[in-house]
Amino acid sequence: MTTATPELCPLYIGGKWVNPTGLLTSSVFNPSRGSIIASVPMCGPAEVNEAVASANAAFPAWRDTPPNERAQVLFRVKILLEDAFEELCLGIAIEHGKTLSEARGDLRRGIEVVEYACGIPTLLMGESLENIARGIDCHTDRHPLGVVAGICPFNFPALVPMWMWPIAIACGNTFLLKPSEKVPLTMQRVVALLEKAGLPPGVMNIIHGGRECVDAILEHPDVKAISFVGSTPIAREIHRKGTSFGKRVQAAGGAKNFVILMPDADIDRTVEAVKDAAFGCAGERCMAGSTAVAVGDAGKKLLPALADLVKSMKVGPTDVRASQPDMGAVISAEHRAKVSQLIDASEHSGATVLADGRSTHCEDAPEGFFLGPTLLDHVEESNSVMETEVFGPVLAVMRANTLDEAIASANRQAFGNGAAIFTKSGKAAREFRRRVSAGMIGINVGVPAPLAYFPFSGWNDSFFGDLHIQGKEGVEFYTQRKTTTTRWFGFGDGEIWAK
Ligand code: NAD
Repeated sequence: MTTATPELCPLYIGGKWVNPTGLLTSSVFNPSRGSIIASVPMCGPAEVNEAVASANAAFPAWRDTPPNERAQVLFRVKILLEDAFEELCLGIAIEHGKTLSEARGDLRRGIEVVEYACGIPTLLMGESLENIARGIDCHTDRHPLGVVAGICPFNFPALVPMWMWPIAIACGNTFLLKPSEKVPLTMQRVVALLEKAGLPPGVMNIIHGGRECVDAILEHPDVKAISFVGSTPIAREIHRKGTSFGKRVQAAGGAKNFVILMPDADIDRTVEAVKDAAFGCAGERCMAGSTAVAVGDAGKKLLPALADLVKSMKVGPTDVRASQPDMGAVISAEHRAKVSQLIDASEHSGATVLADGRSTHCEDAPEGFFLGPTLLDHVEESNSVMETEVFGPVLAVMRANTLDEAIASANRQAFGNGAAIFTKSGKAAREFRRRVSAGMIGINVGVPAPLAYFPFSGWNDSFFGDLHIQGKEGVEFYTQRKTTTTRWFGFGDGEIWAK
């Protein structure tokens, strides 16, 4: 951390871009080059108080804005996002290191949440029952909570914040966004488009920072709900602390997603899908298929082709539109070192390295944070790599004699985000789907990440809370219900109608 850099990311408070002074800053890198491209101010309680006050002041008018008018802002921002699509995607590739095609997926999935939130008049509709007793009717409707906050990880600079704010503000809440301090630039650009789309000042606010900033959000009495996405230890703590302060909290954590390979799986399509699941976004995604279990002789059938495919992957800088590799850099030099050490330790505990990315070097980007795709075979459950989420371009392959054994291995680890099976057998797929302890299941689909209208439904140590992110659960999370029971008395003498 340093005390000042020229390109400081501003805060966005009450509809104004504000440059705070005198705060520590944290560097934002272009991982393809290892160069600093900006810095973020590390905010504390003072900045959080200011941002919450602005969101609080904007709340009554935004709450009272009819849902169809709120949706109009989202329709306009959707058009602006489409117009700026390619430029925003290049920005994602530059600040994150993922390829342009992965950046397009990141933003496209985010825009789909905006599209979902455009249907808010329908999504907010309540329920009613006439004549619950003679002359008495009852109905429920949904009301926004007030100021809600979103705290985001680095790996999807567009999608993860857009899981949150489109639905939250469509429901009539005002929003405080804290992007990851590693990738703050994409949301800065997107929020500028929200402003252009006519979002009233104070409805959306951005602050930056790390633990101190997050603690100030957790402790602020006017913040009614918190959406968090990040690693499991922090997610667990955010949920514990947030709920202890009386807030609604949804906290999505880390993952270790198992991919079961059955001997009858279609070889070519399975190998391609497993490669994409493990190494897409350089393995830095919570739905990465990071552990494969080859059942019976599936390993013999699939692994040679998989190893060839992995070794043929081109790794390189993603910040130049013209020449895109198959895989980009990881987020930081520290993260590269951490993942490299995990590969070392796994090899020492007995894994066979079929493809080794540790010495990957790119001539045209010598300072980039590159780590090539790594394939580890014969990994036992006791291997050190199984103890933690790797979150890098590493696929660990285990062996099992039966589907039962494979499911039991998957169910012994602590996480429960996703799990996938590759097979031609409906019976095997059905058994797997019913018995595996994970919330998002792929059947011949390597990355079963649900689209905007479904919940992102992680289980176990991959999620803390009751209502998941996006879809109808997202609407439920950002609203509270009011149930009204109504009885009208007659006028008595001089009734205007007769019964
Ligand atoms: P992280 O947990 O380090 O950081 C997430 C956020 O928490 C950031 O905004 C960060 O500033 C803040 N933070 C960091 N330390 C904190 C602390 N001590 N107290 C309070 N706040 C703190 O995660 P990351 O490295 O940015 O992102 C990668 C992680 O996110 C992986 O574990 C990945 O699996 C997970 N993730 C999960 C999902 C999901 O849906 N389950 C989706 C995307 C990413």
